[in-house]
Amino acid sequence: MTDEHAAWVLPLSALVCWVSCHAAFGLLKQARESAGWAAAIWLAATGAAAGAGIWSTHFIAMLGYEPPLAIGYDVGLTLASLGVAMATAFCAASLIRGAAGATAVVASGILLTAGIAAMHFTGMAGVRIPGRFVWDEALVAAALASGAVLTCAALFVFTRRPTRYPRAVAATLLASAIGTMHFVSMAAVQAVPDPSIAAPEGGLARGALAAGIAAVMLTTLAFSALSLFADRLRRANRTLASHGAALRVSEERLARALDAGSDGLWDWNVGTGQAWHSDRWLTMLGYEPGELESHVATWHQLVHPQDKPKALELLQAHFEGRSPVYECEHRLRRKDGSWGWVLARGKVVERDAQGLPQRIVGTHIDIEARKLAEQQIAHMARHDGLTGLTNRTCFYELLRSALQEIAHDGGTCAVMCLDLDRFKTVNDTVGHMAGDELLKRVAGRLAERMHPADTVARMGGDEFAVLVRSDPSDESLRRLARELISVVGKPFSFGGQAIEVGLSIGIARAPQHGLVETLLFSRADLALYQAKAEGRNCSRMFDAAMDEAMTRRRELERDLRTALADGGLELHYQPQVRASTCELLGFEALARWRHPARGLIPPGEFIPLAEETGLISALGEWVLRSACSDAARWTQPLKVAVNLSPREFQQDDLPERIFAILAETGLSPNRLEIEITETAIFADMSRALSILRRLKALGISIAMDDFGTGYASLATLQAFPFDKIKIDRSFVGQIETSPQAAVIVRAVLGLGRSLGIGVVAEGVETAGQMRFLVGEDCEELQGYLFGKPQPIESFADAIGGLKAADLSIRLVPARQAAARMAFAS
Ligand code: C2E
Ligand code: CA
Ligand code: CA
Repeated sequence: MTDEHAAWVLPLSALVCWVSCHAAFGLLKQARESAGWAAAIWLAATGAAAGAGIWSTHFIAMLGYEPPLAIGYDVGLTLASLGVAMATAFCAASLIRGAAGATAVVASGILLTAGIAAMHFTGMAGVRIPGRFVWDEALVAAALASGAVLTCAALFVFTRRPTRYPRAVAATLLASAIGTMHFVSMAAVQAVPDPSIAAPEGGLARGALAAGIAAVMLTTLAFSALSLFADRLRRANRTLASHGAALRVSEERLARALDAGSDGLWDWNVGTGQAWHSDRWLTMLGYEPGELESHVATWHQLVHPQDKPKALELLQAHFEGRSPVYECEHRLRRKDGSWGWVLARGKVVERDAQGLPQRIVGTHIDIEARKLAEQQIAHMARHDGLTGLTNRTCFYELLRSALQEIAHDGGTCAVMCLDLDRFKTVNDTVGHMAGDELLKRVAGRLAERMHPADTVARMGGDEFAVLVRSDPSDESLRRLARELISVVGKPFSFGGQAIEVGLSIGIARAPQHGLVETLLFSRADLALYQAKAEGRNCSRMFDAAMDEAMTRRRELERDLRTALADGGLELHYQPQVRASTCELLGFEALARWRHPARGLIPPGEFIPLAEETGLISALGEWVLRSACSDAARWTQPLKVAVNLSPREFQQDDLPERIFAILAETGLSPNRLEIEITETAIFADMSRALSILRRLKALGISIAMDDFGTGYASLATLQAFPFDKIKIDRSFVGQIETSPQAAVIVRAVLGLGRSLGIGVVAEGVETAGQMRFLVGEDCEELQGYLFGKPQPIESFADAIGGLKAADLSIRLVPARQAAARMAFAS
């Protein structure tokens, strides 16, 4: 049978078959991806294309089929075979479109195979030959079986897409199925001549068949093209749809952002002045949506006049392309008239042919909170946290710029340094909380008096400063100082308790006293120091003499340091005697400084200097060590009294230091007496009490020095564990001349007796004073009458066992008679 086919038939029919199968699968794909009518149409097209393919393959092959007999075709059956092919292909396609399960695929494959077979046998039934066809049934069965397998395979590949080109592979498989079935079936047929059957006449001629095949093929190709086009269209639609979806999402996002976001949106038409503002933009400024006219002029009305030039400049810069975006922080007026800070950001989105901006779109972000925080931080950096006044840093900045201005353009200004008197005592008495409150109220009173052009600052602690720019004339400065002192001097009430503080002021002026802020300030400070030294609660203007005094003080400080290191200091001892017997009880150690150029400098001068410069601690330790080691060498177990300054008393480890010195020098603690003044106690009562208790616990005795000169009260005496009260020499010196002084001395003696505390009278110079004191039962006496402070060598005998009476006779012969008289009475 194969021999009976012309050679061109095989490749041509195979090509035609493959192309139509490919087209059919393309159409089926469209059908599967469509719904409703469209799907039905695509299915019909699939059926048509597949049917046409099957049919054409068959008849192209038939055209090349040259049986030994004359051949003709029956028109009706030939057309019917085309119909059968198309119908079964349509059914198979419909089946596989709806369900792609294995059963559906196999069912569809079998249906299609049946269709191909039906087409084949219908077509063969339409073949007219002068004879009969005889079929080999086994081969026909083989054709059907292989056809079914290949068809099912084709449909599996198409639906399951196991390869990269499922359509091409499926088309190849289906084409092979059709081909195999056709050629195997043709091999199964034998044309047996039958003379009883007439030669075909008037049937479909070969030429007509060829034309029919061509027409069917063209239709198939058209379908193929259609399927290809539809595919493209679908793909484009799909991208479009996905773009559409993305667009919808972004629109939705935008709408949401407009609703919920903090940004107000605006869109300006630069040419027409028309504008659009989002609802959020309006609500941000306190307006209802639609309440404001949307026009560029609206912005011009709302932007803060101070910010407008900057905003316009930045806008212009962006319009001209100098900056890629417009960005500006400015204020906008709210509906209620207040100003709100916004961050404006915008970008030109349309330009005309000349490149001039047509449309700009942007946002206004509410940055009020951030601006407030920034302002707060800036305020904190320049102001004092407690009082709200300008702080030190800012004060120096202001002073610097004022001085620069004066240096450049002339003019004057003044600096006042203010310091509260007695603030520390108040702070310690009423507590730190009340102390802070007091500082706040002082600050308030100072600020109230300030001229707007002047600045009051808190420099730290209880120090304040004023920069006077309003009227820095001498007279006006003095008046201002007087006012400030009087206003701060008025009592402050704290829970019914009235508290008073004083104010000392030092003033320096520019340009006379300097044009550098540090120099000017230090000179005002020097004047303040002077004011304090001169009795506080007053003001002093700087003058050159203060500088000289300062220089001298600095030199003295340097010399004192050297003296401390090189042994320029010495101790003198003044005897203390029992009043009733004049028996020597001990000595008070008093420091002396032998200055190489200035001679002996009294402690009244260098002790305060040492206190101010911090040298006191080293000096005190030297005094203590010297006094203790001296006393340890005395054969008589006499007491030694050492003065401690208030500053030394602020060292918490004082008892340990003293104990270390005692241990080092070998002096018994009960031979050491510490003299302190009440100032030392008032600085910090609780700490003082703790230190005193610890000292007492060591066995050291404590004397209250200069009693009567300060505020010491009965309460103080009771609260603190004193062993002795030393009546100040100012009272003792007046016993004989001032009845008042005599009353006070008598009262103190009575107080001591009632509290069980011994009393020492200081500064006893005359026998009359001694007589009075002995008469009033004073226990101990100290003064020139019994000996001036002297180097210990002068008391060599006394410390070896001599009595003070002998001592005074020997040392102070002039007082001998007086002393004798005192003893006698
Ligand atoms: P003070 O503790 O009241 O010392 C007594 C002062 O009175 C001594 O003055 C002494 O020379 C003087 N004096 C004693 N008897 C008489 C007298 O009969 N008539 C007169 N008019 N004066 C008399 P000095 O030595 O100048 O000391 C002054 C102050 O210096 C002392 O007063 C004391 O507070 C302080 N001081 C002296 N040495 C030291 C020391 O080593 N450490 C500390 N922290 N302060 C010291
Ligand atoms: Ca003393
Ligand atoms: Ca004294």
